[in-house]
Amino acid sequence: MKKKINARMVLVAVLGIVATMVLLTAVFYEVFKKQMVDDLRIYALLLRGGADREQLLQADGDILAGKVRITYLDAWGEVLYDNQADSTDMENHSQRPEVQAAMETGEGQAVRRSATLDKSTFYYAVKLEDGSILRVSVEAESLYSILGSAMPSLIWICAVLVLLSLLLAHYLTRSLMEPIEKLAEHLDDGTEITHYEELEPFIRTIQKQHQDIMENAKLRQEFTANVTHELKTPLTSISGYAELIETGMASGDDIVRFSRGIHQNAQRLLTLINDIIRLSELDDSQEELATERLNLYELAATCVEMLGVSAEKHQVSLQMEGSAGYVMGDRIMLEELLYNLCDNAIRYNNENGLVQVQVRQEGKKVVLMVRDTGIGIPKEHQDRIFERFYRVDKSRSKSTGGTGLGLAIVKHIIARHHAELKMESQPGEGTTIWVTFAAAE
Ligand code: ADP
Repeated sequence: MKKKINARMVLVAVLGIVATMVLLTAVFYEVFKKQMVDDLRIYALLLRGGADREQLLQADGDILAGKVRITYLDAWGEVLYDNQADSTDMENHSQRPEVQAAMETGEGQAVRRSATLDKSTFYYAVKLEDGSILRVSVEAESLYSILGSAMPSLIWICAVLVLLSLLLAHYLTRSLMEPIEKLAEHLDDGTEITHYEELEPFIRTIQKQHQDIMENAKLRQEFTANVTHELKTPLTSISGYAELIETGMASGDDIVRFSRGIHQNAQRLLTLINDIIRLSELDDSQEELATERLNLYELAATCVEMLGVSAEKHQVSLQMEGSAGYVMGDRIMLEELLYNLCDNAIRYNNENGLVQVQVRQEGKKVVLMVRDTGIGIPKEHQDRIFERFYRVDKSRSKSTGGTGLGLAIVKHIIARHHAELKMESQPGEGTTIWVTFAAAE
């Protein structure tokens, strides 16, 4: 990129320099030409105005000898006198443009290039009172020969300018690229790079994206480490139980006990794997939601019914309240959300506790509330329980079949449905979670 910018700058500079040189030469030549014709005109007019033409011709002939050629023609274009050639040898001049113009209008001018192209002759003709024509002319170098003679100096100047532009382009490219190079070096530490105001939003976006990428990579790494650890524990148990049975050290009762252990741990593995797969599916934001118009109340009531047995086992009573509330959502995801919230409300409850599930429509919103009279969540953990594998009390979570992924799944589902989450919890008193959806038409 640096090389490209550099090369382009140099190219633009060289083109600019060459074009300026050529154009300037042409402009100067035009000025020079005009000056030449003006001078000739003054000579011609001076000569015409002279009292005694013969005398004047003589005098000017002396003064301008060799420089200005003076030709005197009669009214028909025949050469009467020429200070640089023999007039008798010269042909009739009536067809020359400057002579023709002078015959018609009184004055005429022309520039003619000589055969070798390196010289131009400037002519100026004026008509005298008696109809005769006085023509003055001067020879000068043509544009080509001026260019030719100026070429060595032009080439030198060009070379110096190109060299200067090379240096300048190099310096400019470097200073242009500096903030970008600096940005690449300081992507991590968020150093302020304030070279160009216009680059600021771009730099900030890149830095933000980079931080997000790093954060994501860190989270993924942590997640992988956690997954490995979580899977290892039940597998170690299974392996241990199986080994005991294998060695024949276990008696009949033990075999039943160990088999139960194997079964429970295998179940736990399955639950874990299911949750992990579910999370990675939800992570893939490309996956389309199968949205349909759903009555959230109906879904919640079904969930409450399904969890009846579990509630009984935990000696918790379950209550369903509210009325129909329609939302646009993915049925499977909403069922998962309800299941996870209600399951937690039961599992983290106390004996004889209560779980209230409520769905109600409030204007253009449908609010789901899951309230329990359980153990509650201390303030410092409240933000973190939605992280993967984060558990306030690991042993209680495990003993009730928790994976630490339920609320992470809930958070994802809420985000995918553009719903809002609110939580209030008091240790020892209980927890309430509200999820607010936009009501379907
Ligand atoms: P788990 O499978 O461990 O229940 P979750 O992601 O569902 O995982 O919840 C994370 C943690 O949040 C739980 O381990 C528990 O400590 C806490 N938690 C979740 N819901 C409740 C609740 N209703 N009452 C008290 N603590 C809860």
